[in-house]
Amino acid sequence: MIDVIIAGSGASAVNAAVPLVEAGLHVVMIDAAVEDDVYKDIIPDGDFDTLRKTDEGQNRYFLGDEFEGIPLGPVRVGAQLTPPRQYLLRGVEKHLPTDAGRFQAFQSLALGGLAAGWGAAVPPFNDRDMEGWPIGRADLETHYKRVADRIGVCGDGGDDLASHCEDGGWLLPPLSGDHNATSIFRRYTSRSEELRSRGLFAGSPRMAICTRPVGEREAFRYQDMEFWGDKNPSVYRPRYTLDELRRHDNFEFMAGHLVRSYTEEEDSVVVEAFPCDGGGGRTLKAARLVLCAGAIGSARIVLRSADAWNTPLPLVSNPYTYVPCLNFGGLGMPDRGYPRHSLTQVMLFFDPDPGKRRLIQGQIYSYRSLLTFKLMKESPLAMTESRRLMQALAWYFVVLGIHHGDHPGRSKRLWLEKVDDDPVLRVKYRRTEGETAERREMEARLLRLMPKLGLLPLKRIDPGHGSSIHYAGTLPMTTKSRRYTTTRSGRLRGTRSVYIADGSVLPDLPAKGLTFTLMANADRIGSHLARSLSR
Ligand SMILES: Cc1cc2nc3c(=O)[nH]c(=O)nc-3n(C[C@H](O)[C@H](O)[C@H](O)COP(=O)(O)OP(=O)(O)OC[C@H]3O[C@@H](n4cnc5c(N)ncnc54)[C@H](O)[C@@H]3O)c2cc1C
Repeated sequence: MIDVIIAGSGASAVNAAVPLVEAGLHVVMIDAAVEDDVYKDIIPDGDFDTLRKTDEGQNRYFLGDEFEGIPLGPVRVGAQLTPPRQYLLRGVEKHLPTDAGRFQAFQSLALGGLAAGWGAAVPPFNDRDMEGWPIGRADLETHYKRVADRIGVCGDGGDDLASHCEDGGWLLPPLSGDHNATSIFRRYTSRSEELRSRGLFAGSPRMAICTRPVGEREAFRYQDMEFWGDKNPSVYRPRYTLDELRRHDNFEFMAGHLVRSYTEEEDSVVVEAFPCDGGGGRTLKAARLVLCAGAIGSARIVLRSADAWNTPLPLVSNPYTYVPCLNFGGLGMPDRGYPRHSLTQVMLFFDPDPGKRRLIQGQIYSYRSLLTFKLMKESPLAMTESRRLMQALAWYFVVLGIHHGDHPGRSKRLWLEKVDDDPVLRVKYRRTEGETAERREMEARLLRLMPKLGLLPLKRIDPGHGSSIHYAGTLPMTTKSRRYTTTRSGRLRGTRSVYIADGSVLPDLPAKGLTFTLMANADRIGSHLARSLSR
């Protein structure tokens, strides 16, 4: 019999699998594993500038064969994806039918899940971020370290973010910043005491990027192509861990399949899987099942298995705002001569009331490799003037992304419904007036400090609920025993052999990006299971 079946191949799944496979257990991982078969091989291994100047075939991947890189009409789920990343959405409508109203429920059936196209920011949580959870930082410490050593995490442990991002000695050297980061840090350093006293902390981003070789992955090459391809495999993708898992004889990967449901027998769990391209389903028997299908996907499998229709579960998602800014502090600085990349240049925490839990996280990106025409649309000027202005100033535009924390609430729910006999997942997500007012107030206070960093905020854009693509809390870890909750070791209450090891189990979300904690927690749950099954 199989020891453990894992549903999913994303950041959570592969990191739950490692301790199980290392313990010698027979592990089968099931995933649709959709891959990009159009653009991957036509993007040359070069840097953005060189490709823009020399590659005659660049229109194919920058604009897309169907011009899918030129978003028109209302913003839809995945609008921010470049053409080579749009495969992340393939098959989702068909296999994961969802009616989320205005909530952006971004799900993916890609090999490696959402992290096949993520931004790789990995601030760790501390006890304050996990207040009220049945686990704390001490429970995750060794698992953060194991995951960091596995995936490669860089940053400067001695900068002003250290008090919010305590690291256990796992950091690789920080990324080098470009001209925008350099001018922002200069201004920050010259008045850091004042800014810290007002709650603003800036530093080098904590990123899942190897700035030195890690295993077979080479060091980061600053090609500024991170939104387009993975020719330089230094930004972490779950499939690198999957490749390592596949070298073990006790690990099997069942691609092209999805888990529909499970039923428990006396000493095993029977899993029903179906092939994505049609045909009959298969049943597999294992000692344990670990669900890592994403916070929304795992909830879908649990509700379906329990035959629980119209049964609401909680859902949390970080509210997200972005603010294009002009870096007037950097005007006149040559953009050349600085290494370039498209990911976070500067990480910020705004923590004006340390007694409260309402810290916000900011990430500053240089706006360059996403192509200037998208910025031109936002300008109030006519096209010709706008183009001239953008050409002169493009190097000095930055985008400040702001994440807030989120807590469960009565109007933040998902449930399964039968529509013409087919299961459809529905989401209702509304924030209270108090939450909205607090978000506005915190953002206004943060934006008032931006000129001190040389930044002029131009426009505040709210892309809508769910747009952070950070989802959690559907099957939360609790100390109280309730149905559809999990124990601190990840076991789904009411079951003996079903474990949840993705964002579903986080009871709420601090402002910090969740995925490093998802991976550490998955490693913790996988390690616990490995110990209990190896006895
Ligand atoms: C553009 C973008 C930028 C992001 N940037 C950041 C960032 O900078 N920092 C950060 O912390 N987070 C970021 N995120 C979020 C991050 O990617 C996710 O939190 C993380 O990838 C979730 O991992 P997961 O494995 O739990 O779930 P998922 O990535 O959702 O993976 C779920 C997997 O399960 C599979 N699956 C689904 N249903 C089934 C089923 N029924 N049976 C079997 N398999 C199934 C899917 O195919 C998928 O492979 C970003 C996301 C995106 C899209």
